[in-house]
Amino acid sequence: MTEHEHVRVAVVGSGFGGLGAAVRLRREGITDFVILERAGSVGGTWRDNSYPGCACDVPSHLYSFSFAPNPEWPRTFSGQRHIRAYLEHVTDTFGLRPHLRFDAEVQRMTWDAEEFRWEIETANGGRLTADVVVSATGPLSDPKVPDIPGLDSFPGKVFHSARWDHDLDLTGKRVAMIGTGASAIQIVPAIQPEAGRLTLFQRTPAWVMPRMDRAISGAERFLHRTLPVTTQLRRGLLWGIRELQVQAFTKHPEELGFVEQIAKRNMARAIKDPALRAKLTPDYRIGCKRILLSSEYYPALAKPNVDVVASGLSEVRGSTLVAADGTETEADVIIFGTGFHVTDMPIAERVVGADGRTLAETWKGGMEALRGATAAGFPNFMTVIGPNTGLGNSSMILMIESQLNYLADYLRQLRVLGGRAALDARPAAVDAWNQRVQTRMKRTVWNTGGCTSWYLDASGRNTTIWPGTTAEFRRATRRVDLAEYEVLRPAARTASAEGRAEVGA
Ligand SMILES: Cc1cc2nc3c(=O)[nH]c(=O)nc-3n(C[C@H](O)[C@H](O)[C@H](O)COP(=O)(O)OP(=O)(O)OC[C@H]3O[C@@H](n4cnc5c(N)ncnc54)[C@H](O)[C@@H]3O)c2cc1C
Repeated sequence: MTEHEHVRVAVVGSGFGGLGAAVRLRREGITDFVILERAGSVGGTWRDNSYPGCACDVPSHLYSFSFAPNPEWPRTFSGQRHIRAYLEHVTDTFGLRPHLRFDAEVQRMTWDAEEFRWEIETANGGRLTADVVVSATGPLSDPKVPDIPGLDSFPGKVFHSARWDHDLDLTGKRVAMIGTGASAIQIVPAIQPEAGRLTLFQRTPAWVMPRMDRAISGAERFLHRTLPVTTQLRRGLLWGIRELQVQAFTKHPEELGFVEQIAKRNMARAIKDPALRAKLTPDYRIGCKRILLSSEYYPALAKPNVDVVASGLSEVRGSTLVAADGTETEADVIIFGTGFHVTDMPIAERVVGADGRTLAETWKGGMEALRGATAAGFPNFMTVIGPNTGLGNSSMILMIESQLNYLADYLRQLRVLGGRAALDARPAAVDAWNQRVQTRMKRTVWNTGGCTSWYLDASGRNTTIWPGTTAEFRRATRRVDLAEYEVLRPAARTASAEGRAEVGA
């Protein structure tokens, strides 16, 4: 990166969100952009999560870009290696390599109201400016490790599931797995055969449904390759089934009772010990926390080298792990499957808006953004997968692509406005959008299901999930409604200075 490089658009992050944005920019005829990525390669989630057993839990044909169908998915739920390779392939196919700047962690982005652009500083000492910023740093990209007293005294290896230590051989080791979320239930069956002893620290049991994973046959792949419409049909079917489920999550959580029966049968098939079954049975409505998919998790928990401590880890004394209920366990390795900074996105502390406040300060009372994308006081700044865009049951790529439609229209509107212009979400529009979202949220299983989850922020407000269908979100983000924005223009300057500005715009 050269000093003071100026670009039309700076995209931050190179996961599905950042790469998707870059493809969209090119399709809109915008080539003057960079993708700033803190790591040394693309892939985001699928680069960082390389733990044993890591795979998507939405079928691959839906968990991929609509504009880059992949007839070669090897499994219905493909593994991390294949998803990462897919993102590398997208990068090459759409000519994104020249735009990538690796090892460029964004430290600060500041709106310059004089120059009408964002000033961006990166950790490698780079500085650049951009007319528009697309922040795609991901809701699940900064691992969260709880502050456990005495953790420093642990003599063995400690790591988070998203930072797997591949140099460590777990064979024969006493492994403590902390957490029972989506990553943990994939890790447990993958490492159980090699671990000497595996202890799962479970603060809250998860609802786990069977996962219908299978290899996609050569004949199917041939069909998808030669008749692309079959890939689309498959995708459409997967999408439609999930759309039909949304009502139950958002309006009629009581209808989810029969799904609990399927999950209980999934457990009963593998867990014969009634005491263990009791420990593993949730006491909240299914769907309140993310529904997990695994046909291997319960069989692994039933193995003789596995213990379930039905209590969170509360203290570490050397190699002894003490649970909140007083249970003591000896361990050689601690693996945290404790999730990510979701409702307190670290990037928000690094973005300084028009009034000098950071996005984190603006979001002190809870994250909120107009159509999940723009916040008042942050002109020409858009978040991909921003507040209330998460899904409990379908593919995030659908939401990303909707936001990319919005981004494309946002950039078109700026072009139509001409000269130096910035769009700043009106506070009233942001409020109105969020009131609508929060009103709909009241009846949803995420708010009424009787659990606490990472969907809720510190004050108990659900700032992560979209309480509707993906089709509704698609409609809501098709166009930018200019009435929801204030069009900003630079303060009047001398004629010659403004003339220079126009030339540079
Ligand atoms: C293990 C796992 C499995 C998942 N499975 C599914 C699934 O099956 N279906 C589904 O719909 N969703 C799934 N998700 C959610 C997943 O996060 C999204 O689907 C999607 O991958 C998010 O893409 P993203 O580009 O927004 O974020 P990410 O993939 O997280 O990418 C963000 C990028 O931004 C970079 N970055 C962050 N901060 C900075 C900075 N300051 N400067 C520069 N770069 C920065 C990161 O290094 C990263 O490369 C899963 C998540 C995890 C963790």
